This record gives sequence, C-alpha cells and structure tokens, in this order.
Amino acid sequence: MVNKELALFVRSLMPEGKGRGDPDRPVSMWNELDRLRGYPEKTTVVIFRTRGCSWYKFSSCSMCGYFNDTQDVTEENLYHQIDHVASTMNSDVLKVFTSGSFLDPMEIPDGVRSYFYERIGQKISKLLVESRTEYIRPERLEELRKIGIPVRIAIGLESANDYIIENSINKGSSFKKYMDAASAARKYGMEVRTYLLFKPPFISEKAAIADVLDSIRKVRDVTTDVSINPTNIQKNTLVEYLWKNGLYRPPRLYSLAKVLIEGMKIGPEVISYPTGGNKDRGVHNDTFDDRLLDLIVKSSLNQDVAELEQYMESLDLSEFWSMIEEEDRSMVQVDFERMIKQALSAVPEI
Ligand code: SF4
Repeated sequence: MVNKELALFVRSLMPEGKGRGDPDRPVSMWNELDRLRGYPEKTTVVIFRTRGCSWYKFSSCSMCGYFNDTQDVTEENLYHQIDHVASTMNSDVLKVFTSGSFLDPMEIPDGVRSYFYERIGQKISKLLVESRTEYIRPERLEELRKIGIPVRIAIGLESANDYIIENSINKGSSFKKYMDAASAARKYGMEVRTYLLFKPPFISEKAAIADVLDSIRKVRDVTTDVSINPTNIQKNTLVEYLWKNGLYRPPRLYSLAKVLIEGMKIGPEVISYPTGGNKDRGVHNDTFDDRLLDLIVKSSLNQDVAELEQYMESLDLSEFWSMIEEEDRSMVQVDFERMIKQALSAVPEI
C-alpha cells in the first residue's frame, strides 16, 4: 500500500535536523471549544513533544509537517511534560496530540502512558487521543478502558479510497486497516473520531468533495464523528512543494461549506475547525470571507447547518461552481492566482 517513488520524494523534502524546544514542556497547550460530550464546551488541547510519528522514519503523509516539531526526548522529559499539563490544565475535557500516535510505545513508552493515566485520568471526564491504526491494539485499549472515563480515539483515515491513500496522501495505511482498528476500538467501548483530509494533492476540488462525502458514507456506522480537515500548507511537505510551484491550491471555503452541509445529512456528527482558514496557506475563497468561516465553525459546534445553508443560498455561486467544473476537466490543477502574484512581484518597479 505504499507508492515507493512518492514516499521517497516526500522523504527527500523532510529536514534532517531535529527541533530544539524545551524537552520538559509540551510543544503547545491551549483551550478551545469542541463537542466531545455532545455539546460545545471548553476543551484543553496539548501537543506533547515527542520523537514523532513512526511513519517519519520512512516518509510522511503528503500534507503533514508535524515532524518540524519533533525532537529526541527522554522518558524523564515526558514525565515532566505530563506534570506540567496536570498542574496547568483547567478544563474537564482533554485532547492529546503528539505529532504522531499516543498509543505508539516507541513514541510514548508504556510506563509513560501509565503515568499519564494515573496523573491526569482522575482529573478529567473525557479524553481524546490520536493514533495510527497499527497501535490500536487490545492491550492498549484495555488500559484505556481501565481509566474509567469515556475515551474517543481519533484516527487519520483521510480518505476511504485506497488509491488516494496510497498515491496522493502517502499514508502508509489502508481503508481495511482503519476499519479493523475502528471496530476494535468500538468493541472495547471507545468512541471513534475519523479525520478526513479535504483536497489532498493531485485531485481536483470537485473530486475532493465527492471523496469526502463518499468517505463519510463508508465510515458512518463505525465512527462517532467525522472531522474534516481542509488541507493547509505546512512547511517542508509535498503539499508545500506543489503549492510553491503553483501546482496546488488549498480548497475554497464554499466547497468546505457544501461538504459540511451534505456530510451532516449522511449520519454521524460532522465537524470542521479549519487550521489556517482565510489565510493563503489554508482554506480560503479568492476573497476572504470571515462570516463564512465563522458559520462553518458555529455549525460544527452546534451540529446545525441552518444558518450556514441560508448564507450559502443568499450568494450567487453559479460562476464558482462552473469554475470548479472546468478545473475538474483540466489535467493540471494550477493555482493561477498565486502564479500571477509571483509573476507580478518579479516585475521591477518603474
Ligand atoms: S500518520 Fe499522522 S502524524 Fe504520521 S505522518 Fe501521517 S498525518 Fe503525520
């Protein structure tokens, strides 16, 4: 399930050096709103500083630049990071990110995970952890079950289409692996959050819309919710390489709104809290639209698209959808807007 040529090219873009942050502190920690208990509420997010995703040894997903935050840390460093979170977090709900997989024992050793459960498990009422499929194993599900609080495991499926997983996203995984892992998690009483990537490279925006909706249909019976992540341009990634060469454009907000509205009608809860929205490197229309971005987040938090639908209906988007159709028919997905900007900046002033 790996396109070797693609995997090697992605590898060649990744820097050799490691990050140099404080090894005793997480990369980052903040509060945001999410609805892990079925309603919007304050949720703490922490990104632990770790050696990073096991996939980085070979390659990386085409949009993922979290390797930029990784560095060699000892078990001792990880204990200190956990202590820091335990003493500073101020909400009942915690989402744990690691630039990889919380359940990967090479990244978070078993003893460190046990310490985390002991130190933090009692302080919270709901936990979300992220993991690649290969680490969602019975023994780790059993330890999660023992904490005694509801846990949601977030899995990056990205697309239910194996061709896209292999030749566009370079995930080093498959739909079957996702289904097996998600089913195992459900068997142990866990909830599942499924990440879908909206508009991976090499496919048109129209195809990307169809792919996300099709993926939601395929996972609706096994997932608790679906989180749609519109591709954003992260440093040293394949997506950035293509974008810098005018060969990739992040998705438009109009398309994300459409996916959210139609996706919610399919079944599971569907959310999208876009990173870098209304910025050149994130999801944006040609003209930035703050109201639309706010409505996308609000609809996600409330699971109610009425206002978003009303807003979309108030716009005349016929030209936009024709452009999306035309783009789909062209072989190369060129970012004309950026190419023109680059060309203009190269013209000397008179
Ligand atoms: S599996 Fe996750 S952390 Fe690993 S490379 Fe892919 S997106 Fe990044």
